[in-house]
Amino acid sequence: MSDCIFCKIAKGEIPADIVHESDDLVAFRDLNPQAPTHILVIPRKHIATLNDLQEEDATLMGRLHLAARAIAEAEGIAGRGYRTVINCNAEAGQTVFHIHLHLLGGRPMGWPPG
Ligand code: 5GP
Ligand code: ZN
Repeated sequence: MSDCIFCKIAKGEIPADIVHESDDLVAFRDLNPQAPTHILVIPRKHIATLNDLQEEDATLMGRLHLAARAIAEAEGIAGRGYRTVINCNAEAGQTVFHIHLHLLGGRPMGWPPG
């Protein structure tokens, strides 16, 4: 998607504070962090929302979660705890329509989320 901001970050066309990269994933710090650690993990493949996932994306989404776990360990928050969130569409607050996992940690989290 040529006009997608996260595709542009994945291609290096827009700068981002990248913490992890692989053939199929990129992770970078959120521009407007909601916790001391707030990292977005994205597939390089453009998938707009969770609603658009296909069976063929199962391994990719598994790797996305494994990357989140590894990043949580690297950030030093794996033991104390962290939250992963994927917002889907308007009522959940999705604003960027390239699927992304929020990795949040470094402070206590409330429940239920707002
Ligand atoms: P959503 O609301 O779609 O679940 O999350 C989008 C997230 O992307 C927000 O937390 C927002 O701060 C972040 N974001 C939006 N544009 C950029 C950008 O250009 N760079 C970075 N690093 N984060 C962004
Ligand atoms: Zn995209």
